Amino acid sequence: MKLIREINFENKKVFLRVDFNVPLDEMGVVKDDTRIRAALPTVRYLLDAGAMLIVASHLGRPKGKYDPKLSLKPVAQRFQELLGQPVTLAPDVIGPEVERLKSQLKPGDIIVLENLRFHPGETANDEAFSRELASQIDVYVNDAFGASHRSHASVTGMVRFVPEKAAGFLMEKEITYLRKAIEDPEKPYVAILGGAKVSDKIPIIESLLDKADVILIGGAMAYTFFKAMGMEVGRSLVEMDQLEKAQTILKKAQAKGIGFHLPVDHVVTPSLTSESIPTIVESFPIPLEMIAADIGPKTITMFTSLINQAKTIFWNGPLGVFEIEAFSQGTMAIAKAIAASSAISIVGGGDSISALKKAGVTSQITHVSTGGGASLEFIAYGTLPGIEALE
Ligand code: AMP
Repeated sequence: MKLIREINFENKKVFLRVDFNVPLDEMGVVKDDTRIRAALPTVRYLLDAGAMLIVASHLGRPKGKYDPKLSLKPVAQRFQELLGQPVTLAPDVIGPEVERLKSQLKPGDIIVLENLRFHPGETANDEAFSRELASQIDVYVNDAFGASHRSHASVTGMVRFVPEKAAGFLMEKEITYLRKAIEDPEKPYVAILGGAKVSDKIPIIESLLDKADVILIGGAMAYTFFKAMGMEVGRSLVEMDQLEKAQTILKKAQAKGIGFHLPVDHVVTPSLTSESIPTIVESFPIPLEMIAADIGPKTITMFTSLINQAKTIFWNGPLGVFEIEAFSQGTMAIAKAIAASSAISIVGGGDSISALKKAGVTSQITHVSTGGGASLEFIAYGTLPGIEALE
C-alpha cells in the first residue's frame, strides 16, 4: 500500500475519499466536526503538493436518492471554515455539471461532491457508477478509515479505474495503531467489550481469544452469555439465537485459559427510563420483572483493577444504557479507568467516544479510532475492503 508521501501530486486531479459522516442538529448545523478536522492534514498536504482536489463522503443513509436534509452543504461550509479557503460544493456526485467542474479545476482548487449515497450505485458498488466517479481522476486517495469496512463504489469499486492510489495520513495512523494492537500488543492485553448485541461482535471476540490476555464483557451482551450458562436474567436483553455461539466462546476461553470476565453484580430496573429507581443485584437469579442496565459497583472495582494491570487496552461499546444518567456509571468509570492507565489505549465506536467526551478524558487516550465498525472489523480480520483495494 502506498502512502501519499510517495506520490507526486503536481497538477494531478485527486479523488479524496473522506469520512465526513458527522452528526447534524435539528437545524442542519454540524454538531461535532471531529471527523472534518481529522482529514485536514491530508487535505493540506495534497494542496501544498499541487493537487486539484475532488473531496467525497457519504452522510447518513439517504437510500440512493436526493434528500435535502442530508446534503453535504453544511459540511462543506464547516470544511471551508476550518480550512480557511473556499471550497465549491458540486450539485451532484456524477453527471455533466460535475464533469465540467472537474475539468475546470486548477492546482490548489477544491470541490466537494454531494452525498455519495444520493446514488444507489454507491452502496451497490455499481461498476458504471464507479467508472463515473473515476472519470478524469489521476490519483485516488482514501482517508476514510471509518467507511473502509464497506465495499462501496467510492471505497473499493472505483479504485481499479484510477491510475494511482494511496492512503492518507488518517488512514495511515489508524492502521499503525490498530495493527500494533493485533500484531504486537504489549502484555497484558485487556479488551473491554460492551454494547447491545453479541451477534455484531462474535468475530472480534473470536479473534481476541487468540490475542488478548483478559476479556471484560459488559453491556447487554453479557446477558446473552449468562443465559447461555443457564442463569435467570429476568427481562434483560438476550439474543436467543446466539446462545450456542456464546457457549462455544465460553468453552474456548476456558480452554485457552483466558481471563474472560462477566459482571459480578448488576444495576437492575423495571424499566429503561430516567424515572426508574435502580437497584443492585449481586447474584442470580435476576428477578423476573427486572432488566440489567449497567454493571454494578463490585464489577467496576474488579474491571478497574484488571485495567490497571494492562499494558495494552482495547475498548468498544458502552457497559450499560449510558444514555440514561442512572445507568451510565459503569461506562463512565471504565472510561476514566482507561484514561488513568499508562497502557497503550485504543478506543473505537461512536458510543465509547461520546462516553470519553462526557467523562472529559478523550485527550488521555492513546488512539481514539474514528471508525466504530471499521475498527472492530480491522481488529477481527487484520484488514478492511478499503485497505485491500489500495494494495
Ligand atoms: P452496540 O451498538 O451494540 O455497541 O450497542 C450500543 C447500545 O447498547 C447503547 O445504545 C446502549 O444503551 C446499549 N446497551 C448497553 N448496555 C445495555 C443493557 N444492559 N441493556 C440494554 N441496552 C444496553
